Amino acid sequence: MIPYGRQNINQADIDAVVKVLQSEFITQGPVVPAFEKVVASYCSALHAVAVNSATSALHIACLALGVCKGDIVWTTPITFVASANCALYCGAMVDFVDIDPKTYNLSVERLEEKLVKAEKAGTLPKVVIPVHLCGQPCDMEGINSLSKYYGFKIIEDASHAIGGRYKDEPIGNCRYSDITIFSFHPVKIITTGEGGMTLTNNKQLAKSMRLLRSHGITTDPADMHPRPEGEFWNYQQINLGYNYRMTDIQAALGLSQMQRLNDFVSKRHTIAKQYNQMLSALPVVQPWQHPDSYSSFHLYVIRLKLDEINKTHREVYEMLRAAGVLVNLHYIPVYRQPYYEQMGFCAGYCAEAEQYYSEAISLPMYPGLSELQQDYVVTVIENALNGQDNHD
Ligand SMILES: *Cc1c(COP(=O)(O)O)cnc(C)c1O
Repeated sequence: MIPYGRQNINQADIDAVVKVLQSEFITQGPVVPAFEKVVASYCSALHAVAVNSATSALHIACLALGVCKGDIVWTTPITFVASANCALYCGAMVDFVDIDPKTYNLSVERLEEKLVKAEKAGTLPKVVIPVHLCGQPCDMEGINSLSKYYGFKIIEDASHAIGGRYKDEPIGNCRYSDITIFSFHPVKIITTGEGGMTLTNNKQLAKSMRLLRSHGITTDPADMHPRPEGEFWNYQQINLGYNYRMTDIQAALGLSQMQRLNDFVSKRHTIAKQYNQMLSALPVVQPWQHPDSYSSFHLYVIRLKLDEINKTHREVYEMLRAAGVLVNLHYIPVYRQPYYEQMGFCAGYCAEAEQYYSEAISLPMYPGLSELQQDYVVTVIENALNGQDNHD
């Protein structure tokens, strides 16, 4: 079985985790801030707040930006559900902006059209959440300039994209956004088991997210509310927060993985180049790369040219899975999920996203994928696309 993605753990990673297990602190101790510092410095961001998942990171990022009931948050339909759910957690509504046909990221043209209409209708979004799909950055300059005119905030969902670059600068530097979030789930670029992080250059937002990560509790006397004379308080809850803390065990793994981040990403580029060559004669569209971007290549997505293939999308998908190549779909448009359909979204809402989804397949892509395995993947695809028609 060849999965579409998997973690890469070496002895140094294991040793780093064992060291924490033998230490004084196994929940949030000294390693969490050390991990935050290394990620912030890698990304050239001023502040980083580590949490237990990217889903939690999205939630506290929305809360820190003041998202609440009555607000609207926009994102792309081609993403994991968490990019949209975070707005619902805050009581806000979600809407979707169709994708760019080449990068599959949120389209800046569609965004602008939708903003023009929303301004007239008085339904402008409070926050827009672009997602760097597959690790390829969105057109952040375009989104940022629209944010200045229309007054919305930006959270970059960079769950796929640590180690990637936009216009020769690291994704995560928040040059074009208020907050960037990363995921450290095992299929992502680096892992902490489960884990995530928020980055920002805004001190207030960082402080607010730090509070939200741990019950809204502060131990800083400067933030405490005055109490009656003679009462002694060593901590106060001043906001409604959550238990979204990362443990030192996780942070130790993340810190160790950071040392191989650049190697991981360059290995992913090598694999992508190989795929590009090996698949060039087949009826598939390869992942197009914008010249401004250096993708982290979390995913390698091909689109089937179905009019040149005598099989359906589903048949190809099932043939590959049956041969032990565990391809995946990234993603079914979020608004097509039954939960979202119940909110009133219908098939056909974002035409480009639905076209993409009806043809897309994510191939195995991770640093440990061997040349032999990659040859096998390509052979299985060749057989599936050129092989005998299975129809009666
Ligand atoms: C994986 C992922 C998330 C959620 O990450 P978790 O760390 O599993 O919570 C959010 N957004 C996108 C785009 C993702 O791929």
